[in-house]
Amino acid sequence: MTKDAKNVMDAFLPYEKFCKVVLDGYLVVDHAGRIFKSNPEAAAMMGVSQKQLLKLDSFNDAIKITLMGNSLSIEDILKNEIPYRADQLEGVASNGSKVVLTLSYFPFLDAGVVIGAFILLRNMTGEMQRDKNYVNKSLNSITDPLTTLFNRRHLEEELAREEINLARMPLDSDHRNMTIIMCDIDHFKKVNDKYGHPAGDYVIKKVSEIFKESFRKTDVIFRYGGEEFIIMLPASESIGTAIAANKARVAIEKYKFEFEGVTIPIQISMGVAQIMVGQEAAAATIARADAALYFSKHNGRNQVSIHDGKEIVSFMAKTAA
Ligand code: GH3
Ligand code: MG
Ligand code: MG
Repeated sequence: MTKDAKNVMDAFLPYEKFCKVVLDGYLVVDHAGRIFKSNPEAAAMMGVSQKQLLKLDSFNDAIKITLMGNSLSIEDILKNEIPYRADQLEGVASNGSKVVLTLSYFPFLDAGVVIGAFILLRNMTGEMQRDKNYVNKSLNSITDPLTTLFNRRHLEEELAREEINLARMPLDSDHRNMTIIMCDIDHFKKVNDKYGHPAGDYVIKKVSEIFKESFRKTDVIFRYGGEEFIIMLPASESIGTAIAANKARVAIEKYKFEFEGVTIPIQISMGVAQIMVGQEAAAATIARADAALYFSKHNGRNQVSIHDGKEIVSFMAKTAA
């Protein structure tokens, strides 16, 4: 054992007992990166026995580590005179197995010079997978599979959250406004009857895509039910929203819906309402947007109407005025 290695061992000795309860893998290396102490967890991560691990010339022979695509050798690690931690390292063990690691580094210094280090390795592979599964699962629970839009359940959560945010905003803030558009495809039963259910599904999907293109990235689109949609437009008032709604309506009216070579004419009706912050619950805004939609339907369909808090007016009449 070199003098440096002996000094490192001496420095490590007081912590050795403590390390028996460490669940992560750990290694003690000298200034050249040679491993002369480890636990079984570290050896398992590197795909070798503890005995084999201690026989290697260098840490680099046990595992190849990369950080964001750049290789990180033990020499690179030992250049640091202060402790550090690196997350999301990718390691390829000597037996070819891949691991995602968090590496914690504690150098041993002699007169300011790094003579070795204690390295703690946490295998994050399982946790990363669990995180990914969790994100996928929670995303699945709030999205509609046909359109990939958010579903009604998520609308309720978002409305509750937005209601609280709006109430907290200063009274003179431009962001203290929010509007709701309620939208329903006209005579959709006839689309199913005449062209078949798969054609109906195609129309719903395509309408969703047109909405995604037509509205701002900050507007949130939900599939509310079968062929009904709700769009939440933060920081907007009813006239601006009715203009945006009408633009989407025209885009749909003009789009050539084509399923299995057959063209399907599609039109939609819409209702707009602006939330009256502090005066009504968001559910009441939805009900007013729905009443405006009902008005559009009974006024001839393929149009936008606005519930202004007192009465319902046709967007056409409003803009013509
Ligand atoms: P209106 O203009 O008054 O809205 O008439 P409408 O025919 O669209 O009336 P309604 O809203 O009652 O009909 C909706 C139809 O949409 C009924 C249902 O069979 C159909 N539908 C609901 N969900 C889906 C779906 O996911 N796919 C398909 N293809 N059809 C659906
Ligand atoms: Mg409907
Ligand atoms: Mg309909």
